[in-house]
Amino acid sequence: SPIVDAYRQSTQGSEVLHLRAEQALAGGNSRQVSYWSPHPIAIASADGAHLTDVDGRRYIDFTNNYTSLVHGHAYPPILETVDRQIKNGTVWSAQNEHQIDLAELLVERIPAIDKVRFTNSGTEASNLALSIARAVTKRHKILMSRFGYHGSLTETETGSFNHDYPATTYLGEYNNAESFENILEHHGEEIAAVFLEPVLGSAGIIAADREFLLRVKEAAHKAGALFILDEVVTFRLHEGGRQKALGIEADLTMLGKLIGGGFPVGAVGGPDDLMDVFQSSDLRTYHSGTFNGNPVTTAAGVVAVRDLTQKSIDEMEKLAERLKNGLAAAAQKVNLPFCVSHVGSLMNVFFSNEIPQAALMREDQAAMSRFHIAALNQGLFIAGRGLMAMSTIMDEALIDEAIDRAAVAMSDVAA
Ligand code: PLP
Repeated sequence: SPIVDAYRQSTQGSEVLHLRAEQALAGGNSRQVSYWSPHPIAIASADGAHLTDVDGRRYIDFTNNYTSLVHGHAYPPILETVDRQIKNGTVWSAQNEHQIDLAELLVERIPAIDKVRFTNSGTEASNLALSIARAVTKRHKILMSRFGYHGSLTETETGSFNHDYPATTYLGEYNNAESFENILEHHGEEIAAVFLEPVLGSAGIIAADREFLLRVKEAAHKAGALFILDEVVTFRLHEGGRQKALGIEADLTMLGKLIGGGFPVGAVGGPDDLMDVFQSSDLRTYHSGTFNGNPVTTAAGVVAVRDLTQKSIDEMEKLAERLKNGLAAAAQKVNLPFCVSHVGSLMNVFFSNEIPQAALMREDQAAMSRFHIAALNQGLFIAGRGLMAMSTIMDEALIDEAIDRAAVAMSDVAA
């Protein structure tokens, strides 16, 4: 197709690197979402809201590393902090003050959290939350949502492999409290915890109803299971996380992405009575990790969280609203079916008239893939599944430029 031909023409340096990657990296990458056909672009550098690829092409970046770079790339206050830290060493096997600072900041922000423990990824945070739940309940299984995603730990990864989910995992239907209540009623005595995203992220930015979350929490407690909210993505939606915005408290809260300021991170927080499983006088679950809470990540994280104020969150939401309206108008102009799911600074585009129940069940995959490549051709970097995340350093002029680029990409798709 002309869209793919143009892409191949302008990304030859990326193709060369892709061929090399396939010789040494299993599957050509270490991260499934960063592969797409015919080859992913290879990035040479990033600054602010922009990426530059190895062929020297510039892109406005709306993935923000899958929502984790809430202040964009190479954010100067983070660079200064990290620069100072790395000169003092990057990691050591004893306490560092930055992880205490970051923990205090999170405790201050999120009402349901008295204590925090750090990991190196959201996936590890799932694993840790699960081991706390197992230690507390002496049960083994979990309940989560179909199309939910809590990392690539087998037990909590149902997205692309939902035909083959593990025997330890029950699946309820998102926003359908009854389906969770039924499972908890019949299998509650086996279930250690219910995991839920307050907004389905990788499945398309679908917000949970407050009522749904409250009913699942109540049913979980009735069954003696923990209610875990995965705020790895949704912490960027409110200064106290999505749960604070909705007035709901989780038993355990999973965090990740933005709280590492662009470095690998994860965390689990909760009230003292649950987090006490790590009290050294009464250690009930073991957790360690060579890089957990390291000073570089946590120093960067302090700046990222500190600078994510409610004001900046509200401004990002306004930018997202502007982008959404501009994209919808552009799609209408070229008669493409189009809709957007949107919560705060996060959105997902669909080339259909209605938002599907989950992005993993979308019927517009062909149009989405064409738009993804057409957008790259216009210097607009979005996730292959249509996710777009704002950052605090974006402004209206940048959003308008993005809308103009998207409009050209849409007319290429419609042609
Ligand atoms: N939980 C949610 C809601 C996520 O979106 C992700 C990653 O996309 C994870 C957990 C896993 O985090 P990580 O990729 O850092 O392992």
